[in-house]
Amino acid sequence: MSKILIVEDEIKIARFLELELKHEGYDVIIAGDGRTGLEKALNEKIDLIILDIMLPGISGIEVCRRIRQESMVPIIMLTAKDDVTDKVAGLDMGADDYMTKPFAIEELLARIRVALNRKNYMSDKKVETLQVGDLKLNLSSRTVFYKEDEIILTKKEFELLEHLMKNRNVVLTREQLLNNVWDYEYFGDTNVVDVYIRYLRQKIDEKYGIHLISTVRGVGYIIKD
Ligand code: CA
Repeated sequence: MSKILIVEDEIKIARFLELELKHEGYDVIIAGDGRTGLEKALNEKIDLIILDIMLPGISGIEVCRRIRQESMVPIIMLTAKDDVTDKVAGLDMGADDYMTKPFAIEELLARIRVALNRKNYMSDKKVETLQVGDLKLNLSSRTVFYKEDEIILTKKEFELLEHLMKNRNVVLTREQLLNNVWDYEYFGDTNVVDVYIRYLRQKIDEKYGIHLISTVRGVGYIIKD
């Protein structure tokens, strides 16, 4: 069941939407102001947000902007009047769609279905990212970033880092790394692991002055959170 968050301070509208959406089979939660809406949007598992622009405290536009820094959850904005500036601002902040009040509930329901379908389509091919501290490894684009800085790695360096990050907080022996990252052409030659660990340290630890990859003497290597 899709869960929809309604961020709307006008209780009558919020209640009306809640009844209609529940009737359609959606799970519904309501936030009466921007701050609560933002908190729920970021901390609960929400499939779609209906976000009023005119809210007390943090405006809907600002709520939308902050959600977009963390999440691509579909957002349909509600504008109180036919205000082009509000619409443009909402869409600029990453809203997927908007409705002008008063609206026909059938139209909103149709737009919700479209947004949810698009979301499901997108999440089928969602990007998978591994992250440790400020280091992010994207498995689909095969890119690595430290903060905003892209780190260019060779294929083997990438695979070694990927394996260490997937097993973060676990000590991996040289043999385990060799078996999982290299083909059997290197069978038994764990020196190659040390060499590539050194390359990674040059490109990440030394370059950014951080301590990402630790040596566990006599055992192997580990990346810790
Ligand atoms: Ca309002």
